[in-house]
Amino acid sequence: MLHIALEAVAAACAVTRSAQQAREAFGSLTKDDRSPVTVADYAAQAIVAMTLKERLQNPAECALVGEEDSGDLTKDDAKLTREGVVRLVRTFRQGVEEEEVLEAIDSGADQGTGEAYWTLDPVDGTKGFLRGQQFAVALARVEQGKVRLGVMGCPGLPVDQATTTDVPDPGGVIYAAVEGQGAWEYADCDPNVDPMRISCDIWSADRPLRYCGSVEKAHGSVSDAGRLIESLGGGTRVAVDSQCKYAIVARGQADAYLRMPKNAEYVEKIWDHGAGSIIATESGAKVSDIHGRPLDFGHGRVLKANSGVIVAVPGLHEKLIDGIRELGLGPAPSA
Ligand code: AMP
Ligand code: MG
Repeated sequence: MLHIALEAVAAACAVTRSAQQAREAFGSLTKDDRSPVTVADYAAQAIVAMTLKERLQNPAECALVGEEDSGDLTKDDAKLTREGVVRLVRTFRQGVEEEEVLEAIDSGADQGTGEAYWTLDPVDGTKGFLRGQQFAVALARVEQGKVRLGVMGCPGLPVDQATTTDVPDPGGVIYAAVEGQGAWEYADCDPNVDPMRISCDIWSADRPLRYCGSVEKAHGSVSDAGRLIESLGGGTRVAVDSQCKYAIVARGQADAYLRMPKNAEYVEKIWDHGAGSIIATESGAKVSDIHGRPLDFGHGRVLKANSGVIVAVPGLHEKLIDGIRELGLGPAPSA
């Protein structure tokens, strides 16, 4: 399944990258700034669903909880977008029919209530995509409520950690992990290279912390994260869109990724955390919610039993969870 997931994500990385590069021309054509990301989102979900269906023999193994469905796409006023999606999918599969593309998108309608399923965020970090910055194609396999496999394509993330993440890298990188088998890096988004094993950093109280959070202020409390880090001696914050943040901790570039809830109402979606969480865990990092509870993927499309997300290197993770409790940050834990 790892090889199939890698193949699917690599193909989706190629088409989403080309859509990102052409976003200004496309947006002006449709007079809608958001249409390039909409097209990329649908096309990537179609490509991943088509690949799973073709390469996995048993249809029961293809259950897919995808972020998108074709509902809006089939409306009359969505003709241009629909044509754009089909055109983009044809760069992957020549001659594919519109009907086949819509059917593939809708195969992602699973509710995640079965024993095993895939979960996909075809373009995670849509705001980053539109700004010409980072986004991710994130595919994970969940079995009995636990993530067992994750593949995350970061089409614009430089493999070289000395290079800024603010502008897209032409090569990008894919990260992958299987439960109990470590986390691996595939340079240039190429599933056929020899992958390199990655591990998270070792925490030292003697140096300033490096942590990441969302670019979008609405997606997490920057001030709560800041208070928490200050209570541990301070540090520098790196803002990156998408699940790439999990990989940035997993590859030793940051000590933590803090997603402090802004309110008790928002419930995290499984596709925003499936692939990233297993890649970070397999790199040696600790992943939990803000109260230290493991992320529980056994509640359908959302992480209903969790609040926010804390990813950090061992040693630091415990201190962050203690700090959250002592400072009284975030919504109180439900029973
Ligand atoms: P990021 O790129 O880390 O800022 O996260 C992008 C993801 O944030 C999107 O895929 C959304 O599903 C999710 N999101 C949307 N609204 C919120 C919110 N209020 N709090 C947390 N996450 C959100
Ligand atoms: Mg997302």
